Amino acid sequence: MTDVSHESKLPQERRLVTAVPGPKSEELMARKQATVADGVGAVMPVFAKRASGGVLEDVDGNSFIDFGAGIAVTSVGNSAEAVVRRATAQLEAFTHTCVMVTPYEPYVEVCERLAELTPGDHAKKSALFNSGAEAVENAVKIARTHTKRQAVIVFDHAYHGRTNLTMALTAKNMPYKHGFGPFAPEVYRVPVAYPYRWLTGPENCAEEAATEAIDQITKQVGAENVAAILIEPVLGEGGFIEPAKGFLPRISEFAREHDIVFIADEIQSGFCRTGRWFACEDEGIVPDLITTAKGIAGGLPLAAVTGRAEIMDSAHSGGLGGTYGGNPVACAAALGSIETMREFDLPARARQIEQVMKPRLRKLAEQHGVIGDVRGRGAMLAIELVKPGTKDPDPAATSALAKACHQDGLLVLTTGTYGNVMRFLPPLVISEDLLNEGLDVLERALGTL
Ligand SMILES: *Cc1c(COP(=O)(O)O)cnc(C)c1O
Repeated sequence: MTDVSHESKLPQERRLVTAVPGPKSEELMARKQATVADGVGAVMPVFAKRASGGVLEDVDGNSFIDFGAGIAVTSVGNSAEAVVRRATAQLEAFTHTCVMVTPYEPYVEVCERLAELTPGDHAKKSALFNSGAEAVENAVKIARTHTKRQAVIVFDHAYHGRTNLTMALTAKNMPYKHGFGPFAPEVYRVPVAYPYRWLTGPENCAEEAATEAIDQITKQVGAENVAAILIEPVLGEGGFIEPAKGFLPRISEFAREHDIVFIADEIQSGFCRTGRWFACEDEGIVPDLITTAKGIAGGLPLAAVTGRAEIMDSAHSGGLGGTYGGNPVACAAALGSIETMREFDLPARARQIEQVMKPRLRKLAEQHGVIGDVRGRGAMLAIELVKPGTKDPDPAATSALAKACHQDGLLVLTTGTYGNVMRFLPPLVISEDLLNEGLDVLERALGTL
């Protein structure tokens, strides 16, 4: 595995010098509790000081191996050289004009890159926003104005954000929706092909789930009322579910037949994460619209809707935008991030990460009955934890495992509708040594369950 972490500004090592959390983090946590709303939670009770390559250092001097990348955001590593170089130059030139007042080149350049990188060779256009949720909302707006229809189809276990419309699109009640209704209307949820939990087994999953989903759309909504079908090609917050092969092509084909806008939400799975630029490429799917965010700009807030020019252009001038959408510093960072992804061939790096991690995760699954499933692709991998010998979700074991990892210097995240999935999203520039050491920590932590 090629080492691309040589540019890292911090020693690439796991180092524990205090208990986790240490005294400085505890002091800051008390200040956080006094002044930051409780709704803003924290996975790990340590405060970040610096981060680079595959590590994150806290205010007490502990250095954690980073298997989270800020939820699949810092794929190029934190403060990556090209991101810092380009964003710094932009900061010094100007910080904001509002693209709707006086446009600037970096915005156009990001849209040019998106047209090159996203699947399909049709004419494409983009619009830029601040967050993933905002991109998803705008994709729905565009699909509705293009089709003159209103209904939006989403799937079980979907996650699309936390704004009012995207809460409606998101499946899971706690913590995303609970108490926050009423939600936006004209959103309909249908089954997704979740192989591990498909009742008649993984072999039948793609076919049966697609048939059931299409049947429900046809019978309960009516295809002619549907503006958009929105799906994550690999479901993120729902539990790193890879829809069984064949499911996505059937759904996208159905959309095409009925002039429904097929939107791939690649906010988590996109930008090299799954071993290709976009996860839907694995099944040759060309979405009409694609939403991106997270990995796009090396940590700066940026999101995009990219798609067929004739669909994107159906919104009238002034109908899309926002004060900050496509901020010039965030655009410069995105150009630095894309430069890094191309220079170091990060899709290939993501595939190498899978080659290192998956065999070891599979071996751990053989040894520990608590691991019911190992799945994902590229550097978007997960284990699903169950009561041994059953498929009953074990969220308690999952949080205990995460906690044991945190205390031993490994930053990991959990996810999933049942809270029983541990996910691995390392920065794509992490060294092979750190990857293996992180897995050693996981192995030890499994032994403590
Ligand atoms: C994170 C995420 C979103 C929301 O993005 P924000 O930037 O948090 O608003 C939407 N869709 C998917 C698939 C995501 O993973």
